[in-house]
Amino acid sequence: MKLVILGSGSYSGTPKPLCNCENCSRARTNPLLRRTRFSLYFERTLIDPSPDLHYHLGRLNRRVERVFITHAHFDHIAGFPELQVFRELDVYSHSQGVETAKRLALLFLGGASPDGRTWRYHGIPFNEWVELGGMVFFHFRTVHQPIENAGGFVFDVKGRKIAVTGDTGPEILKDGDAIRAMEGADLLIAEMTHREAIPKAHLGVKEAIELAKRVGADYTVFAHISHSNYTHEVLEKKVREAGVVGEVARDFTWVEV
Ligand SMILES: [Zn+2]
Ligand SMILES: [Zn+2]
Ligand SMILES: [Zn+2]
Repeated sequence: MKLVILGSGSYSGTPKPLCNCENCSRARTNPLLRRTRFSLYFERTLIDPSPDLHYHLGRLNRRVERVFITHAHFDHIAGFPELQVFRELDVYSHSQGVETAKRLALLFLGGASPDGRTWRYHGIPFNEWVELGGMVFFHFRTVHQPIENAGGFVFDVKGRKIAVTGDTGPEILKDGDAIRAMEGADLLIAEMTHREAIPKAHLGVKEAIELAKRVGADYTVFAHISHSNYTHEVLEKKVREAGVVGEVARDFTWVEV
C-alpha cells in the first residue's frame, strides 16, 4: 500500500508571506523546499482537508471516498469545500470536527450534503476502536490548546497499522492509551512542528523523536513542520543521529507501507 504526505507544513506554510527567515527565503527560490499545509492520503482516504487541498487533489488526481479530520484548526479543515468534486463521501471526526465541516459545506456549498451529493458525517468517540468497511481505526485525544477537541488516529487497514499523531502537545508522551494504540505501527506520521516544544500545543524536535522511539514504528515520517523550525537538512541529520528509521517529509513524499 502506498501513502503520500500531500502537505508537510504547519499553519502558515513555508514560505510564510513577509517572513524572511532562512527556510522562507530558500523556499521562495527553490520550490522543492516549499511546505503546503498538512494533509495525507492512502487508499481513497484523505486525512485533513488542508487549505491547499485544491493543489493537493489536482496533483494527486485520485478519488477520495473517506475523510478523517484530526481537529478543526484552519490548516487541517479549511479546504473541506474543495471535496465538492466527489459525489459520495464519508466524513469522520469527533463532534467538533464534524460540526465545523458541516458548517463549511453549508456556507460554501449550500448544504451539509450539497445538491447531487451523498455526503455522510460520522461523529466518532475518542479512545475506542471503530470498525467500518474493512478498516478499523482508533481516535485518540491530544492536548492541543486552545482547541477543545483535537486528536490523532490509528488505522488498521489491509493488515497494516498506520498511526497519525495529529497536532499534539508534548503531553502525549505521558499518555499511555495513545502510545499503546500507536505502538508497533508499521508507519508513524508524527508532527514535528517547532525546534522546541510548546506545552499543550506542539512537539519540538526532541519530543517528536522521543515519541517515535516510544511508538517503535517500522518507519516514521515527521511532518507538520513550521517555517521557523531547523532546515530540512538539519532535521534529517537529527533524525538520523537519533537512530530513528524514517525521514522528514517534504510535500508529496510517498511511502510504501
Ligand atoms: Zn496544524
Ligand atoms: Zn519564515
Ligand atoms: Zn492545530
